[in-house]
Amino acid sequence: MTAPLLALLDGSIVDVATPIVRADDLGVVRGDGVFDATLVRRGALRDADAHLDRLARSARLLALPQPDRDGYRRAIDALVAAWDWDAAPEAVARLVLTRGPEGGGPATAYVLLQALSASVIAERTSGVRVQLLDRGFDGEVVASMPWLLPGAKSLSYAINMAARRHALEHGADDVLFVAPSGRLLEGPTSTLVLDVDGELLTPEQDGILASITLEQLERDAPAAGLTVRHAPLVRDDLARARGGWLVSSGRLAAAITAIDGEPYPASPLHEALFRVLEVHA
Ligand code: PLP
Repeated sequence: MTAPLLALLDGSIVDVATPIVRADDLGVVRGDGVFDATLVRRGALRDADAHLDRLARSARLLALPQPDRDGYRRAIDALVAAWDWDAAPEAVARLVLTRGPEGGGPATAYVLLQALSASVIAERTSGVRVQLLDRGFDGEVVASMPWLLPGAKSLSYAINMAARRHALEHGADDVLFVAPSGRLLEGPTSTLVLDVDGELLTPEQDGILASITLEQLERDAPAAGLTVRHAPLVRDDLARARGGWLVSSGRLAAAITAIDGEPYPASPLHEALFRVLEVHA
């Protein structure tokens, strides 16, 4: 297992065991910060600009200082140069920005590079059993409540992680959040794509994270003869779909193989979608 690598925005590599965050950092004590994460494959970072743009958007939504783009690029370049790409050809880069110490002080910013875990890679092949969980709100309601940070990739992921644990305890691998109205939302760390009558449909992005993997799919799918469209998907659409996937920057895509314990069909578009997203099993 390749050890994680850590870089600061001046481009210096720091031992990951060295403390770089103060105990009173608001990112630690309040989850008050933002992050973004993307795949780096053999040194090539996927959609770097889109991830830096989203980090900046998230920071704006939390009224954090704007991220130092050049600094993040310096840190990424240093990590890419130091990583052993033969030992671990795929890694996830996490760009972190917190509000810094409670009493004031500079924002905390760093990039962490970690090998893509074997279990995540395996899910590209084996797929994921999904549990539907109520998220407690509707996307379009939350979209008008900026204090709930819709669309921000904040460090407050405890609910998302709790949902994932709940699914694991109940024999599933992952979660699809559903609104009280029955609208389908997103996974705790992923976006839903369904094959409905040969068209790739994904929930409207009200109140959920704008996925960069989805952006890539929308951009590149037409050349492969696939169409992608946002639609107000509801629970019943799961039953009429020919199959579906959870997509995200690290795992890229995993087919949904079961929903709430019931086997789910494999879409005839599976291989085409994997080709478009360049998913390596
Ligand atoms: N939705 C949530 C809540 C996420 O955390 C993520 C990714 O981590 C996604 C969707 C998928 O976004 P992306 O494709 O940009 O990784």
